[in-house]
Amino acid sequence: MLKIDIIEELEKELSNSDYNNYIKKLTYKKASSSSELIVFEAPNKFLANYIKTKFTSTIQNICFNLIGSKPSVEIKLVGEKRRSKKDILSEQISSSIPENTMLNQSYTFDLFVVGSSNQMAFNASKAVSDKLGILYNPLFIYGGTGLGKTHLLQAIGNKAIEENKIVIYVTIEQFMNDFTFSIKTNKMENFRSKYRKCDLLLIDDVQFLSGKEETQKELFHTFNELHTSNKQIILTSDKLPSQIAGLEERLKSRFEWGLTTDVQIPGLETKIAIIEKKSELNGILLSKEIINYIATTLDNSVREIEGLLIKINASADLMGQSIDLHLVQNLLKDQIKEKKDNIKLPNIIEVVSNQLNIKPSDLKSSKRTANVVNGRRIVIYLARELTLNSMPDIAKFLGMKDHSSVSKNISKANELIEKDENFRLNLENLKNKIINKDY
Ligand code: ADP
Ligand code: MG
Repeated sequence: MLKIDIIEELEKELSNSDYNNYIKKLTYKKASSSSELIVFEAPNKFLANYIKTKFTSTIQNICFNLIGSKPSVEIKLVGEKRRSKKDILSEQISSSIPENTMLNQSYTFDLFVVGSSNQMAFNASKAVSDKLGILYNPLFIYGGTGLGKTHLLQAIGNKAIEENKIVIYVTIEQFMNDFTFSIKTNKMENFRSKYRKCDLLLIDDVQFLSGKEETQKELFHTFNELHTSNKQIILTSDKLPSQIAGLEERLKSRFEWGLTTDVQIPGLETKIAIIEKKSELNGILLSKEIINYIATTLDNSVREIEGLLIKINASADLMGQSIDLHLVQNLLKDQIKEKKDNIKLPNIIEVVSNQLNIKPSDLKSSKRTANVVNGRRIVIYLARELTLNSMPDIAKFLGMKDHSSVSKNISKANELIEKDENFRLNLENLKNKIINKDY
């Protein structure tokens, strides 16, 4: 009796989403004869914790109205075998290093959240996956770090494996290591038959081909062999083929033979959808408020969002804390501080210098050419935003007289962010590379 009434009363009392997301998943177990204790079962610890913190007093008030007393509320776990610390850690480790030779099973189309930032790349990947070797060959996916290129690449691979295709997934570095090892050990025949006899060759991060002449030559022949026999090739990179410095013209043109598509930084709605999906997958229950808070605070890569969810999961599980906004704010603060601690001024100079093709010594000089002035402004803006350095620190590092010119540069950068879309995008891209240590 009591069970039905309580759940029914809760439905009346709470919002639809609170009821459907949380309360509906509870099972009522028992009330002690004295009605001093009522027990529910929840399918997992996160739900149990969440309900206990958020809804205990509502449940108690309802009981008071029904039976005239306020019992203690206990939420027990059911079904779920509790994961050991070891399980949780190994899960975290495997999800934080997807770039090994094995395909990550969780990189599937189903688990990829589609929004306007990645719609084209997703559609192209699915289309190619349905018609391997026939539709767009090669498919070239490019874009910033942590935005889902590897995920899409491996989703195509996972699907092809299900269809019993021979699939090879390598990063360009693995391809190169495999190649040099094969030369050294006189096993080039094995190497060639391996790479030229597959149905689907997936090569991740081809921007690292820059200046690797021998590897480029070998890849060129592999490419031709596969392409003529209608075997599918898919490549990812952080930039367009035409922007990869030191890439042979003939490879550049081949990379552009099929379809080139990009992934961009997700907008707010997509970020929210990603957080919802990832937390659901990990059995973490987050309120709308927390999800919004994360989505608006973390503004770059999806990888960064995942990092935070792993921390939330670990704190809730290992330390027995419930997930509330306060916990998330603290973890986020730590994550942001840790990030800033790890970014040093020379890292910023390195990335800006590489990407904008300006010598580090010029960035630190007082040279006034437009290109250098722009580069220096970007360094200053990023230094302020991404590191713990003060304006005087930054001025000193760049050999400037005092911090007033640092502050002027920051104002100018903010102005440009408002009115110059290209400037803003460029800045986001650089920020993303620095945060993800992609240098
Ligand atoms: P990239 O190769 O572009 O650097 P990844 O594919 O490694 O990025 O993505 C980083 C992490 O973010 C992965 O764990 C991936 O599953 C996740 N991710 C990125 N974009 C999405 C998305 N749209 N939906 C779901 N997960 C995503
Ligand atoms: Mg990648």
